[in-house]
Amino acid sequence: MDFALTSEHELIREMAAKFGRQEVLPGLTERDREGKSDRTLLDKMGEAGILGVSIPEVYGGSGSDYVSLGLVCEELERADTSARVVLSVHSGLHCLTLLQWATEEQKKRWLPKLASGERVGGFGLTEPNAGSDAINIQTHARKDGDSYVLNGEKTWISLADYADQFLVIARLQEPGDKARHAAFIVERNTPGFSSRPIKGKLGVRAGNTGQIFFDNLRVGAENRIGEDGDGFKVAMSALDHGRYTVASGAVGIIVACLEASTEYARSRKVSGEEIGRKQLVQQMIAHMAASRDIGRLLYYQVGWMKNTGIRHTREVSMAKWQNCNNAFQSASDAIEIHGAYGYCDEFPVERYFRNSRGAVIYEGTREIHTLVQAEYALGYRTDRPLARTLPKWPVKA
Ligand SMILES: Cc1cc2nc3c(=O)[nH]c(=O)nc-3n(C[C@H](O)[C@H](O)[C@H](O)COP(=O)(O)OP(=O)(O)OC[C@H]3O[C@@H](n4cnc5c(N)ncnc54)[C@H](O)[C@@H]3O)c2cc1C
Repeated sequence: MDFALTSEHELIREMAAKFGRQEVLPGLTERDREGKSDRTLLDKMGEAGILGVSIPEVYGGSGSDYVSLGLVCEELERADTSARVVLSVHSGLHCLTLLQWATEEQKKRWLPKLASGERVGGFGLTEPNAGSDAINIQTHARKDGDSYVLNGEKTWISLADYADQFLVIARLQEPGDKARHAAFIVERNTPGFSSRPIKGKLGVRAGNTGQIFFDNLRVGAENRIGEDGDGFKVAMSALDHGRYTVASGAVGIIVACLEASTEYARSRKVSGEEIGRKQLVQQMIAHMAASRDIGRLLYYQVGWMKNTGIRHTREVSMAKWQNCNNAFQSASDAIEIHGAYGYCDEFPVERYFRNSRGAVIYEGTREIHTLVQAEYALGYRTDRPLARTLPKWPVKA
């Protein structure tokens, strides 16, 4: 067993950390306060090669392994969740799912543009009346000759106003009671597509989230990912990849909480003594340090499973569930350590608190992951082999 990161991993981690310091943090407090997202950040991520991380070289990406994607997510979220969310939807939910399910022709058509940042990808599963119970989505696709006509709406979609194309899951409109689904790449410039931002979010305020609508939107069969009836499996595969980015990103928040809290605890004095010397403060610091180390072990394991081509639906659910809960607890404790100063945006910990709350909800709520883990433990749930698997690293054509 080898837990050491390679020199390539260290380089990519440092590149992402520098990007966070130089491109994400400047002006962030104002953007977050005013709820303004910055579209140019996506261009900068493309130029820096971040949008091509873990996309094989043969499709124009960096060719780095899947652990690298986790490291970049950790470092980006250490700066701000809004930057990591870009990778969650673009790299995790969109590109890795294409790598797993798309035909060779489809990969060659889309992945090079996605890897360079010429195009940005999003993911549309959630609907106003279907979140945790995603199987009940109502957006439907009616087959019409060689194409499909889509009608419906998706909500809480990250990069709704910015992504150039979305991986959309729809219910096939066909006779019979049993719902079958299909997955499509829907391009923004298609007639019948529109989007609208969601305002007043608790967190990820510097990121764009919104609704997307399909009004008699026609999409060719060449844009269907997988076969008719594969849509739900494609969606669940996408979540295996997205959850990995959320789990690794959550470690970035924990690290940021630990850094802010230790610095503050060593400088703030109460009754002439640094609060870092108080045992109850130390307890919160120790929990953050444990959460960081446990969190890394959980996501490194999943990265290794992705590299070696092992199905990891259970492990990635565990990593996402535990790391997001621990990030939220760490952020809450970081506010406690900062006292009243933690309660305003003079310090970043209140932003960590608001941002970490969202990750407890998206990509499977705390309750859903609890149920999933219990079902695996009880033997009520097992994973059947999928028709298409994520290619092992290194990926050849
Ligand atoms: C910032 C943000 C970004 C997002 N980005 C995307 C995106 O890019 N694409 C996308 O498709 N979606 C996205 N989502 C949506 C997200 O995945 C859903 O919000 C999430 O799946 C939960 O669905 P819901 O909000 O409809 O809650 P519901 O499913 O309505 O759940 C409400 C409550 O009921 C509980 N509950 C539900 N079912 C059960 C059960 N069986 N047992 C016990 N308790 C249960 C839940 O745990 C929760 O507490 C995003 C959400 C947020 C907040």
